Amino acid sequence: MFFHVIVTSECNSQCRYCYGEALQDTDEDFEGLDVDYSLPKNISYNMSELSEFCARDPECVLTFYGGEPLLRLEEIGRIMDNVKVGHFLIQTNGLLLDRLDSAYVNRFHTILVSLDGDETLTDYYRGAGTFRKVVENLKLIKENGFNGELIARMTVMEQTDIYKQVEWLLDNSEFSFSSVHWQLNAGFWKNDFKRRTFSSWSRNNYNPGVRRLVKFWVDTMEQSKRVLRIYPFLGIAESLLFGDNESLLRCGGGWINYTIQTDGFIIPCPTMWGMKDYYLGHITKTDPASLKRVFVGNPCSKCDILNLCGGRCLYTNVTHRWSDKAYVHVCETVRTLIEAINDKAPIIKSLIEQEKIHRSDFEYMKYNGCEIIP
Ligand code: SF4
Ligand code: SF4
Repeated sequence: MFFHVIVTSECNSQCRYCYGEALQDTDEDFEGLDVDYSLPKNISYNMSELSEFCARDPECVLTFYGGEPLLRLEEIGRIMDNVKVGHFLIQTNGLLLDRLDSAYVNRFHTILVSLDGDETLTDYYRGAGTFRKVVENLKLIKENGFNGELIARMTVMEQTDIYKQVEWLLDNSEFSFSSVHWQLNAGFWKNDFKRRTFSSWSRNNYNPGVRRLVKFWVDTMEQSKRVLRIYPFLGIAESLLFGDNESLLRCGGGWINYTIQTDGFIIPCPTMWGMKDYYLGHITKTDPASLKRVFVGNPCSKCDILNLCGGRCLYTNVTHRWSDKAYVHVCETVRTLIEAINDKAPIIKSLIEQEKIHRSDFEYMKYNGCEIIP
């Protein structure tokens, strides 16, 4: 089982798609859902309680999450010193990575670091100076011996040219990543669809960009015998090629990847923070193996591509922040992604048969925080 541990709800960034959206989107009406807005900012349960909870799952994987988890360096150290798990991962904005002792950093199996692309784009979304500081920190942790997987985790919206930015992250003179994942800022806020241009951008820019990127991905396999670790492509290709057709959420939210709030209650995913209707247990009382499971409902449950999409996002499915009419444009991005990879599947298969690339090139740690479906 995978568990996000919310270390703190505080953050040291003010990103456009999070802090910026929150300022413009003050409507907290979750249509009948009971939300606790008074959760503790920091962990309020005892370390022994977390330790005992994880001990009941021999394959427990913990991912530090926030807010910004590195604002609580000592708490992270305490957990890593006292809780026995299979692996530790972290999702961070990377600004404080230089402050965590390398003895801890080097124990992370995976670090997912928020970068949206090149310096101009990252600083536009995340604030001036962000890119430079994060890249300095990444170089430092590499120098200090970090050998785990480092994933550039992009948040994508209308200012992003997906083809240009993913290609740049994979190969540039500043800091090239071996792994990239992204998530669309789509369906998370109540009123933003009206003030944004998501439908025309996704149709005219993002979807064509994804098709072009898939072509680039497969061209690279043919020309360099390399399968670039572009996570949305890896996940879909693996299912299409090797028959691992899943119908459950690919992020794992609500069935294999849960979140532990600062008060110890367990929810399906970090964005469902405080949603009491979705409290599935508490670390002091619930066995990891007996946690309730939650699944997506309509429109996903009736969708013809549910087996490949998995439902994209439980939070957007249950909160309906975007209307069905608006969400159709998000589903169109999912269809584009699946079709683009499906179109290239015969070429990929033939490259595997010729042993230019290998099935193992498509393997990855599932539920590591990459949702696969952006
Ligand atoms: S494509 Fe849309 S409706 Fe279909 S499963 Fe995915 S998110 Fe749900
Ligand atoms: S995709 Fe949605 S349900 Fe899954 S972890 Fe992200 S916000 Fe949560």
